[in-house]
Amino acid sequence: MNIGKDKVVSFHYRLSEENGDLIEENDTDKPLVYLHGHNALLPALEEEMVGKAIGDKFSVTLTPEQAYGPVRENSVQRVTLKHIANSKKIKKFKPGMKIQVNTSEGLRDVVVVKAGLKTVDVDTNHPYAGKTLTFDVEVNDIRDADQDEITHGHAHGPGGHHH
Ligand code: ZN
Repeated sequence: MNIGKDKVVSFHYRLSEENGDLIEENDTDKPLVYLHGHNALLPALEEEMVGKAIGDKFSVTLTPEQAYGPVRENSVQRVTLKHIANSKKIKKFKPGMKIQVNTSEGLRDVVVVKAGLKTVDVDTNHPYAGKTLTFDVEVNDIRDADQDEITHGHAHGPGGHHH
């Protein structure tokens, strides 16, 4: 079986910067699971997945434009704690910390610049904005999606959505 529209794909990945620094890697016990063809991944990464089989390994390097966009200027905003996801669970906001802010378009990844008492200044650039990113991918499993998954537009079961 090969990866294509409406296949549920499990994969392992390592994400590194242009200089080789590892920035993210998924737990080997828990592959990332997604439904192909429903915009779950960065488009340039999803495109590379097409036609791959179980056990295939590949690397793909994405430009900032293909990944999380260029760094925008004037991107620092002051937000109140109530707009920060899980703010009660965060004991102390430290510069450089990655957090999520609730916006009208859903959760957004931002980086703490400065913390006040009731507000936090955040840089709304994506933490990986401006970075050229290399994904090292190993395809772990491929299966046909069931009708519910296709209707919902996401994978169910282990590693997927539970509801
Ligand atoms: Zn669902």
